Amino acid sequence: MISKKGIDKVLEGYNQKKLVVCTIGSHSALQIAKGARDEGLSNLLLCNRKNTPFYKSWPVVDVVLTIDSYKDILSEKVQEVLRERNAIIVPHGSFVEYVGAGNILEKLNVPLLGSRVVLEWESDRKKQFQWLKAAGARTPKEFQNPEDIDRLVIVKFPGAKGGADYFLAKDEKDYSTKMIDVNLPDKVKADCMIQEYVVGTRFYPHFFYSPLDDSLQLLGMDIRYESNVDGLSRLPDSFGIEPSYVVTGNIPVVMRESLLPGLMELGRNIVKASKKLFPPGMLGPFCLEMVCTPELEFVCFEVSARIVAGTNVFVNGSPYSALLYDEPMSCGRRISREIKEAAAQDKLKEILY
Ligand code: AMP
Repeated sequence: MISKKGIDKVLEGYNQKKLVVCTIGSHSALQIAKGARDEGLSNLLLCNRKNTPFYKSWPVVDVVLTIDSYKDILSEKVQEVLRERNAIIVPHGSFVEYVGAGNILEKLNVPLLGSRVVLEWESDRKKQFQWLKAAGARTPKEFQNPEDIDRLVIVKFPGAKGGADYFLAKDEKDYSTKMIDVNLPDKVKADCMIQEYVVGTRFYPHFFYSPLDDSLQLLGMDIRYESNVDGLSRLPDSFGIEPSYVVTGNIPVVMRESLLPGLMELGRNIVKASKKLFPPGMLGPFCLEMVCTPELEFVCFEVSARIVAGTNVFVNGSPYSALLYDEPMSCGRRISREIKEAAAQDKLKEILY
């Protein structure tokens, strides 16, 4: 288990004038690298052999460190290199998936932006619901037993695989028939979550919480572009084609302005609940996945406790960040701004765990 004390000690050995923002070359790495560059910090991307030429080809990337496998990040050799370079790890979705939330908690002895425990909470769908409910958010009805299915449901499997293998079912018979075709180990199948399918409009708001001044910002908002479900809506009829929910891109969106006060209140409640459930709670960027119903109610079905890939549509800032800053402020840049400000106030220990 990596202790906070140990991380603080590593930080004490850092040259705080030469901090390097580090992540895996994937997901939102280019935005994070540009954000560091814009804030006058250096960046370093950990890439596998296949992706190394790609990431080296972007002028915003300072250093690419090639590794054979992402799990090598846990090796003492790579961690030593990162500490020598004063690296601060910024976890994104692929980072958590490739390295593993448990490994980050147990073995990664390099300072990381935000709490490590929160990554464990976001990796477990049941814990996510516990968190959302504790924040007073409305969540889709869950069905523990397939026999109880009395409406359209979406069946989800563990792991952040971008919606692969999910299916819709309208009753128990439909559920059982479709479950047979799912090509996953029985143990994974047994761990599925059966959720009410909420029909409405989707919003994925990007928040940033800073413990430095206890502020919550709305930096942007996107909708995930999912295959094939977003293609099906172009057909006059579904022709019996089953929808799938594999993320292939992101689309920017703004929310009706009268809904924003309620959205911010929900964001603040998410932060408040996280502090109670797993101190120090949610720090830095996070995102809620939600549907807005015709009654203008938000129903949240997921919380991502780190930068999300949907922020990539706002590398040059968003309609919301433009109201907060007089300069283009992406989520990646906001992360580096936080690191820079914490360093200037000698408060890095409050944001790095
Ligand atoms: P998730 O893996 O939870 O992010 O879900 C993948 C996608 O499935 C989402 O982006 C939505 O398009 C859709 N989805 C997930 N849960 C629900 C739900 N309860 N109601 C409606 N759509 C959902």
